[in-house]
Amino acid sequence: MKKKLNKFIRVRFAPSPTGPLHIGGLRTALYNYIYAKKTNGIFILRIDDTDKKRFIKNSINYLIDSLKWCNINYDEGYGKKGKYKPYIQSKRFKIYKKYINKLIKNKFAYYAFDKKKTLKLYKKKYKHFIYNSLTRNNLNNSLNINNKIITKLIKTNKYVIRLKTPYNKNITFYDKIYGKITINSNQLDDKIIYRSNQTPTYHFANVIDDHLMNITHVIRGKEWLSSTPLHIIIYNYFNWQIPKFVHLPLILNNKGKISKRNFNYNNLPIYPIKSKYKNINIKNSYEELGFLPESLINIIALLGWKPNINNEIFNINTIIKLFTFKDINKSDVHLNFKKSCWINKKYINKFNNNKKIFFLLKQYLIFNNIDHKDKLLNKIINLIINRIKLININDIWYNCYYFFIIPKKFYIPLKLKYYIIYNKKIIIYLFFKIKKFFKNKPNKNKIILFFKKLQISYNDYYFFLKIIRISIIGELKGISLFDIFNLLNYKNIIYRINYFKTIIFNNYK
Ligand code: GLU
Repeated sequence: MKKKLNKFIRVRFAPSPTGPLHIGGLRTALYNYIYAKKTNGIFILRIDDTDKKRFIKNSINYLIDSLKWCNINYDEGYGKKGKYKPYIQSKRFKIYKKYINKLIKNKFAYYAFDKKKTLKLYKKKYKHFIYNSLTRNNLNNSLNINNKIITKLIKTNKYVIRLKTPYNKNITFYDKIYGKITINSNQLDDKIIYRSNQTPTYHFANVIDDHLMNITHVIRGKEWLSSTPLHIIIYNYFNWQIPKFVHLPLILNNKGKISKRNFNYNNLPIYPIKSKYKNINIKNSYEELGFLPESLINIIALLGWKPNINNEIFNINTIIKLFTFKDINKSDVHLNFKKSCWINKKYINKFNNNKKIFFLLKQYLIFNNIDHKDKLLNKIINLIINRIKLININDIWYNCYYFFIIPKKFYIPLKLKYYIIYNKKIIIYLFFKIKKFFKNKPNKNKIILFFKKLQISYNDYYFFLKIIRISIIGELKGISLFDIFNLLNYKNIIYRINYFKTIIFNNYK
């Protein structure tokens, strides 16, 4: 039986187009999406663009591209049909005007005419200066001036409208992550909620829209937690129902909180996808580094949320099933590049990305004039795919270069160096014997038998195989030697072994 749509739960992602979406914003979008899906609710995208000064062209386009790439679909909102249109605040100014007038009329907001300079001076003079019930009677605002002068001043267009916060009142609200929070209104500022150019500020527009759009849960970053008491006051002044609040822990990189202005991330990407837009310059993104959208979703879901089970690889459906606000941590979360790569690796394998890898590898080989056969490439990719962390040519090449080029540099661990120095005789003997062995396709059993027949010790067997690995690959890494032997021809193997032999015997005389 199909579940009924629960129209009651309505959540929104409300980004400001002040720069490209980063993964902090993406996580907010994702958690909203997950919660809507989990509750059969509605997920809304609203663009909060009241701050024209900080507007950056194409950031809405980049945002939409990113959500699409991650497959985070919204039900209602910007660019889509919906009952609560328009879903972009710059097209809703008439609505805000109506509500600001109501607040003024009911004396919950007032005009303020103070010069910026004067306020700066106050802040300098009184360290903890706050514009509110304790100070506003001595400042230049409509509460202290007679009506005639007010009308005159309003005409000069040099005013702002401030929220009249109550005197000495405890504002209490409950956040689903941070619990009960109480703040005394004397600690709050009479925030500017409307400007003389007839535009609202974020705090005001946000409350009006959340109410008019019937938002039931406000899920957003912790940076907004301290503004919530102010929003509660506005809700109360209008006598509106207050939505539930869910503030998500901050995401930190090695330099502190990630933000649109914090570009210094030491290789840790903070943007989801590359940019198609000239004015949005993204140097490093998850997409370009070779992350898959499915794994990025998994990585981002785990930024703060930790389900009580012993697994960290989940697809979106499992995340939706498991997700609860209870499992979100209060503490700030750190981006972890190593873990992100580990998650991506799991997805690369799972989703059979051979074709993508084939394409990148082939392109690279052609570009570098390296001989290759498609059949061989496919075999190699099958062997190395479970080692690839990122679908980019650097990582692919790192895992398979030795099939295409003969190593000329060798990394020999110290222990092995000593073994070589003290066991030259046996090494020369084994080098001599092993050549024959490579004539027939070698496998593990054959090689064990081969060494057994020679009656050499386990120690020699152990070190000699390492020597062979280094001669083929250049260092102690890579897939099974026997798989490599199967793909390289006899001449090639012997050439590498001989080359390495001369190198070690010249160096370790
Ligand atoms: N427009 C705000 C932002 O840029 C949204 C905050 C909220 O969700 O209330 O993040």
